[in-house]
Amino acid sequence: DSIMIVAGLVIDRQLSRSFEDENLDHAVVHARSLLASLRTLMLSGQGTLAQKWLQEMRHSEGVLDIAVLRRDGTEAFMDLRTVDAVNAYLRETGGADGGLFFSREPATPRHEAPNPALQRALQGETSFVQGDRSVLTLYMPIDNRQECLACHGYEDMPQRGVLKLSLSTAQVGQQISEMRHDLWTAAVALVLLLALILWMALRFSVIRPIGQLRDAITLVGRGERGGKLPIQRNDELGQVSRVFNEMRDRLFRTESHIRAVMDNVVDGIITIDERGIIESVNPAVSRLFGYAEEDLLGQNIKMLMPEPYRDRHDDYIQRYLETGESHILGAGREAEGRRKDGSIFPIDIAVSEMKIGTMRYFIGIIRDITERKEQIKALEYQALHDALTGLPNRALLADRLQHALLAAKREQVPLALLLTDLDHFKEINDTLGHHNGDLILKQVAQRMRELVRGSDTVARLGGDEFAILLPTADQTHARQIAEKIIHAVEQPFELEGQTFVLGASIGIAMFPEHGSDGHTLLRCADVAMYSAKRKRRGFAIYESGQDRHSVEYLSLKRELHEAITNNQLLLYYQPVVDLQRGRVTGVEALARWHHPRRGMLYPDDFIPLAEQTGLIRTLTIWVLEEAARQSQEWIELGLELRIAVNLSVHNLHDVHFPDHIARILDVLEAHPTRLRLEITETAIMSGSTEALDILNRLSAQGVRISIDDFGTGYSSLSYLKQLPVDEIKIDKSFVIGMAVDNNDAVIVRSTVDLAHNIGLKVVAEGVEDESTYRLLSGLHCDAAQGYYMSEPLSVEDLMVWLRESPWGIRQDVH
Ligand code: C2E
Ligand code: CA
Ligand code: CA
Repeated sequence: DSIMIVAGLVIDRQLSRSFEDENLDHAVVHARSLLASLRTLMLSGQGTLAQKWLQEMRHSEGVLDIAVLRRDGTEAFMDLRTVDAVNAYLRETGGADGGLFFSREPATPRHEAPNPALQRALQGETSFVQGDRSVLTLYMPIDNRQECLACHGYEDMPQRGVLKLSLSTAQVGQQISEMRHDLWTAAVALVLLLALILWMALRFSVIRPIGQLRDAITLVGRGERGGKLPIQRNDELGQVSRVFNEMRDRLFRTESHIRAVMDNVVDGIITIDERGIIESVNPAVSRLFGYAEEDLLGQNIKMLMPEPYRDRHDDYIQRYLETGESHILGAGREAEGRRKDGSIFPIDIAVSEMKIGTMRYFIGIIRDITERKEQIKALEYQALHDALTGLPNRALLADRLQHALLAAKREQVPLALLLTDLDHFKEINDTLGHHNGDLILKQVAQRMRELVRGSDTVARLGGDEFAILLPTADQTHARQIAEKIIHAVEQPFELEGQTFVLGASIGIAMFPEHGSDGHTLLRCADVAMYSAKRKRRGFAIYESGQDRHSVEYLSLKRELHEAITNNQLLLYYQPVVDLQRGRVTGVEALARWHHPRRGMLYPDDFIPLAEQTGLIRTLTIWVLEEAARQSQEWIELGLELRIAVNLSVHNLHDVHFPDHIARILDVLEAHPTRLRLEITETAIMSGSTEALDILNRLSAQGVRISIDDFGTGYSSLSYLKQLPVDEIKIDKSFVIGMAVDNNDAVIVRSTVDLAHNIGLKVVAEGVEDESTYRLLSGLHCDAAQGYYMSEPLSVEDLMVWLRESPWGIRQDVH
């Protein structure tokens, strides 16, 4: 527009100037023709006519004034001066006589005040005065050289006078302003038109696409779908649109990805602003808290919190904003959430901060940890309780013991700890199966629990070991409880229609007499318990004298494994003598433990341990291998000796056991009939089908089987008839006293008779003197074993015995 205005102004000026120039030219032409006419008139002497003509001309259109001025500024042709001068001239030259004489009406002459334009004209230069906008006055010099009248040639100045012509330029001004008006109108119209065109062009090529872009951005910014731009062009805007579309697609992809995550994530995600107002929630939040999304947006987050979290929340945020010190930011912590229905549930919440511009937001990730909590509770319970009986376990007992000790010390009262081990439980477990063993343990636990007060603790420490903690109990009370427990355990158990009887051995340790910490008390109770077991006395209160032996016993448990692998075990052999022939026919292999520090240990010290720890299987295999190896060696020496090996009840529950034996016999090329296996009566009385199956498999391999400790298990001989056994060994408790105790003699005699009746051989153990030996011989007992003939001997001693003893086989020994 400004260009247009400047251009307009220039054109305007040019126009005015050309009009002015035109005017001047016009005036000059006009003046020339006037002057020419005037000259013609003057030449023909028509001065008056000239005056009249000038007069006439003065009134013609556009002419405001015409005058011929003399040099002095007076107007010619108006006064009579010239006429008089001409007449005087004529008169002087006689021309007047000829009758030539000028007369004229005088008119009022004017006098032009000298002005610069006039002065310039008098110098010979045509000059102009622009009076006002509507008048142009021209001063044209009239040359002296130009003759007009001969009579006027008297002056010798170059200019005779000046023709003054005033023209009205009003019309021209009018014209100019009209033209200017037109010009400006056209210019404005042009500008408007151009602007319109420009605008239209802009609108279609720039504004509209930019508007579309803006709308699209707004749409996308609002998070709405759509907003894809049409791309029709390949210019910059087209490229911008393409880039925008790509950005938008990427944004939507990312957004739908994020949204999918947000929607499907199990955790609730809430964003709040600095005031705690909820800005956004994901669907999980609605699921967790039971509120619809619209119920939450714009509300304070506190609505989801129960006390005391609700109360503290503002303070937390406030403190954080003021000090930057945060209790809530960072890793997840446990809190509570409040559902729409008012119920409260445990949550794990992790809060992080997010800054957008100057605004600060907090993002909370919330997880319902009800299940986790319950699991932890269950795990805690599991960790502290025995799964089978539901009783507290060792860990919980230790904890309660510690607390009880603290209280007992504080209140200066005594405290008792009882440790119970069931007698014969191992056998029941092994013979009846673990399932039935478990049922019995449950019943035992139940009976124990019924005997104690709520403040007492009955715990199961594992296996058949139980502990009873009696806070504030003195020794008398502890004894009473121990007796009650023994009595309760001794009551028969009913299982699958059968009745079983168990026993219990209890060790008692007292605070403060025996110890002041849990560990010591437990150890003392353990020692007392083993003492009770050894002495078969039901229960025992700890005595420091028991300690040495019992502590050794406890440490042996740990050392036994090493002993087997490090060859600390060895076999002793006790001869078995044929009573009819008076000769040794075989030996029984008996395990010994040559302990590096304690010297020779006997089976009673470690066989029960091996059975408790499960090492008995390894031990039996070792004994079998060693016995088979020995048998092989003797065969090579030409010695005919059978070797009997003792089995544990555990071996009868090991389905792989017969295979083990087969392999051992195979490797050593030992003859199976040279191997005899001894199984105690109590073990064999289990009657379990698997044990019987194993016995049958062993027997099928050609291995002989004896029933050891016969008479202690009250088994009926008719039952034994069904078993693949060919020999019984009468328990030494009957044999040792049979020479003096008639009852024992009767038992031994009838046992021998009955056994023979069903085709079983009989061995008597514990033959300690000659009279017993003779008695047995008279009863037709088949074989005897005992200190009378020989104690168990090392291999070397056995060799000597074989050579020197009356029952030996001297002739065969080289
Ligand atoms: P057992 O099978 O009854 O073995 C006989 C035990 O009676 C041996 O004790 C032996 O020294 C002892 N004895 C022999 N003659 C007499 C006698 O005239 N009077 C008295 N009072 N005792 C006599 P040991 O060697 O201490 O063995 C004890 C028990 O240990 C054995 O009793 C047996 O049940 C078990 N045992 C020994 N070695 C093994 C083994 O290798 N494996 C398994 N599972 N048990 C074994
Ligand atoms: Ca035996
Ligand atoms: Ca025996």
